[in-house]
Amino acid sequence: SAESAGTIALPDGEEIAALGQGTWYLGEDPARRQQEIAALRLGVDLGMTVVDTAEMYGDGAAEELVGEALRGRRDDVFLVSKVLPGHADRKGTVAACEGSLRRLGTERLDLYLLHWRGRWPLEETLAGFTDLMEAGKIRHWGVSNLDVAGMVELATLPGGDAAAVDQVLYNLSRRGIEWDLLPWCREAEVTVMAYSPIEQGRILNVGALDAVARALGATPAQVALAWVLRQGVAAIPRSGSPGHVRENRGAVDLHLPTEALDALDEAFPPPGGPTPLEML
Ligand code: NDP
Repeated sequence: SAESAGTIALPDGEEIAALGQGTWYLGEDPARRQQEIAALRLGVDLGMTVVDTAEMYGDGAAEELVGEALRGRRDDVFLVSKVLPGHADRKGTVAACEGSLRRLGTERLDLYLLHWRGRWPLEETLAGFTDLMEAGKIRHWGVSNLDVAGMVELATLPGGDAAAVDQVLYNLSRRGIEWDLLPWCREAEVTVMAYSPIEQGRILNVGALDAVARALGATPAQVALAWVLRQGVAAIPRSGSPGHVRENRGAVDLHLPTEALDALDEAFPPPGGPTPLEML
């Protein structure tokens, strides 16, 4: 009975919620655990059904929290996790995924990503993803923190053009991908998923953002998220607070008029040339 939070399409045509939920730093403080679980469940109820986690987060603690929060509602969610680069040879990728499945209490992931590029050749990770797809343990695979050069290299490998997603840093204060990676992904039909879409809270106090939000009767977080969503990029804000989750959900219905976009361009200029892909 989840609401719809707007959708975007994966390359195979499957529609996923445009606004999802991140989980970095969730599950690390026992005193906050119940509130974090409530926040994740509320987000799913509100249609923020893409849930992004990783074996890295809290050394598995975030995945365990997600598993607990999603018990009984696994099928309402599009579940994403990531393999650490150090684990990302063929066998290691399979073993890491099996560890994630165990902590998450599920038999399959909807999307499995290489967290960032490390010492293993991309062929190795791709072979692991292929094994996992054939075993029915993952439904899609993709990458994270790959720039255009990395995506081009991946796309030239046999089967490498089947990457569903590149998950990268993108928000008002980090617009470099607009120059090259975003157009490249559109052309190649790779879905872009924005992480840290509110810059971990650091942009929320910028005066120009606050002014735009006030003029629209919205909050800075809602404007920042609506801005990311405006061009078909998915966003996965993280919140362990039900009030913030409800607020963030409001971004889906927020239309940004031209004057608002112009004011935001002024305060957060688009890239004027190629910019190395940043990561957090
Ligand atoms: P976000 O930009 O999502 O910001 C999260 C912070 O903002 C938290 O401190 C949260 O606190 C606060 N916050 C959330 N909503 C609001 C609100 N409405 N008003 C005020 N504060 C708010 O940063 P993240 O780095 O967490 O990025 C999101 C997700 O992306 C991660 O959790 C992770 O899943 C993924 N990620 C992936 C990376 C990769 O390499 N692939 C790297 C970084 C992130 P509170 O809990 O109190 O609401």
